Order: sequence, then C-alpha cells, then structure tokens
Amino acid sequence: MTVRVGVLGVGNIGQDHIRRLSRVLCGASVVALSDIDSARASTVAGGVTGARVFDTGQELIRADDVEAVLVASWGPTHADFVLAAIEMGKSVFCEKPLAPTIAACLHIVDAEVAYGRRLVQVGFMRRYDDGYRAMKTAITSGALGTPLLIHCAHRNASVPPNVTSDMLITDSAIHEIDLVRWLLDEEIVAARVLKPRRSGRVGELQDPQLVILETVTGVVVDVEVFVNCGYGYDIRCEIVGESASVSLDDPSGVILRRDGQRAGRVPGDWRERFARAYDAELQAWLDSVAASTVTGPSAWDGYAATAVADACLTALESGERAAVQLAARPALYG
Ligand code: NAP
Repeated sequence: MTVRVGVLGVGNIGQDHIRRLSRVLCGASVVALSDIDSARASTVAGGVTGARVFDTGQELIRADDVEAVLVASWGPTHADFVLAAIEMGKSVFCEKPLAPTIAACLHIVDAEVAYGRRLVQVGFMRRYDDGYRAMKTAITSGALGTPLLIHCAHRNASVPPNVTSDMLITDSAIHEIDLVRWLLDEEIVAARVLKPRRSGRVGELQDPQLVILETVTGVVVDVEVFVNCGYGYDIRCEIVGESASVSLDDPSGVILRRDGQRAGRVPGDWRERFARAYDAELQAWLDSVAASTVTGPSAWDGYAATAVADACLTALESGERAAVQLAARPALYG
C-alpha cells in the first residue's frame, strides 16, 4: 500500500523528510505541500513529481487525496495542524515539539482521546537509533541491573545567532528528556539547571548548561547541553546500573591511524548523525499508517516532554529545583 502524504512546512527538516519519503523509503507518495513561504513551497514541489501546493495548511489537511499529514513547520504552528488532522481522522506525524505549551499539548491529548484511537506520532527519532535501542535492550534484559544514573552530552558545532538560552532546553535537551522517559519507562519528576561559566564565543547566550533530572524511582540524569562546542555534533549517553554500564559507541565506524595519530570522524550535524534513525522513524510511521495502528512516540510523550522542558525553564530562571506536574495519563496511552 502507498500512503499519500501531505507535508506542512518545507524548511530544513521538511525538505529532508520529503527526500526520504520520495527516494529512500517504501510505501509513500508525497502528494501535497504547503508552507507559509509559498515561493519556497513551489520551488520544493518542482522537485517532487505529482505534488500539489496548497495555500494553507488547513486546506491541505482537508484535501481528499491526502491520507496522512507530516507537520514540519515552526513549533508554535504545530498544535492547530495536529488538531485539524485529528478532526479529519487522519494520521499525523508531528516534528518535535508536539506544541510549545503544556496547555496546547493537553488539548491535543484530549482531542485524540475523544477521537478514540491514536493518530499522532511525535518526531522523537532517537528512539529509532540502533545505539539507543541496544541500550534499552541492555536495561530490559537485566544486563545492567537496576539503572541508577544516566550521563548525557548534547553538543552542536554551532547554532544560528537567533538561538536563545531557553532553546537549549526546548530544542536540544528535549531529545534527552524524551529518551530518558523511553529508556527507563518512567516519568521525570523534577529538574534543575546549572549555569556553568559561559563560552566566550557566544555573547549573552547561556551556553553550556547542565540539566539535572530526577525520575520517579530516583534515577538521576545529567545532560550537558553545549550548542557552540566548535568541533562537531557530539552526542553521548551512558547508563550506569547496579552491576554494569552501557554507553553509545563512537558513530564514526572507522578509525584512521596516520602520522602517529589515531582519529575518527565527528558527525557535522544531526542529519548526518541520525540519518538512519530518521529513516527508520518515518518507515515505522508509514507502516503503522498503512496498518491503521500508530505505535511510535505518542501525543502523551509529546505532552510529557513539554511538561519536563517547562520545569527546566522554570529551574533555569530560578536556579532552584522545579517539580514536574503531570496530568493523569489517559488509558489510550497505556
Ligand atoms: P525551518 O527550516 O525554519 O522550517 C520551517 C518551515 O515552516 C519554514 O519554511 C517556515 O516558513 C514554515 N512555516 C512557518 N509557519 C508556517 C505555517 N503556518 N504554515 C506552513 N509553514 C509554515 O525549521 P526546521 O529546522 O525545518 O524545523 C521545523 C520543525 O522541525 C521545528 O519544530 C523543529 O523543532 C523540528 N526539527 C526537529 C528535528 C529533530 O531532530 N527531530 C530536527 C530539526 C528540526 P518561514 O521560514 O517563512 O517562517
């Protein structure tokens, strides 16, 4: 079966997902595009055989030939598009964040619960990375014993000058927030954010930050977020259990030994580092849409991640420990 997909937002990741849906994966046809920048939408559509351009996202979602919707526009626009897709009973893949506010996320959760079946998958692609999946297996198989601590680092070579201190949490650490919940299969209950000495290369930006999370069973997680580290996209994770530890391997695959040096490549950015995870994530979505059973990261996961990020922002501002307040989890989400 071929799923006819409409894509909303054709910027960086929207175009990358269109390439993936059109040229890499099985079972998808991109039939519609829309972007607030209509000239950009037309240019992108020129490279996608059979894709129509819609003036607005709402028109695209209502179109009869669009079976499923992929939302890759700016974060604050996500909720309206996801709600419209739910209203039409169409499956929707929404890039993170599901929505930037807790209230908007809960609105989506309520709408999906009222619809009665899952339609929403959120773009937390790291759950599809081979390394993280092996780490989860190490936990569920009992190889680690009880998990006690997780150490993470999230480093980008650089980010655009319009990135704010809050965005180190809402755009970057949100991936670790989701991963911790997924790896441990438990909720995060509190957050603190330490502000180390600021890098002299980035003006007023609080970069790096050290985010400290506590889970419901007392696992403590530290996440170094450093988005102008200067040398590449470097993602690290180690889980320390009672009897063993497991960590992500070097993603470079090969080591070059030359002139007395031993070197491996550091990925340039997230596209390179997680290329296979993005492919696997969207293939799983297409397969689940074809089977009418959405199984990936849920609207509840999107809500919980935003709630934890919100607590982190409170902690960043106050310098204090901030508790995470979660609503009761509806039965739809297990
Ligand atoms: P981007 O390059 O700015 O692209 C967003 C696109 O959406 C732009 O073309 C923007 O147009 C357009 N847009 C804005 N409002 C719209 C509306 N109302 N209707 C239709 N289109 C609209 O941003 P990006 O880097 O691709 O990020 C897009 C989303 O993906 C963000 O939520 C981001 O957090 C997420 N993302 C996720 C990952 C991941 O690892 N999962 C990685 C990257 C991005 P203008 O430029 O004219 O505003």
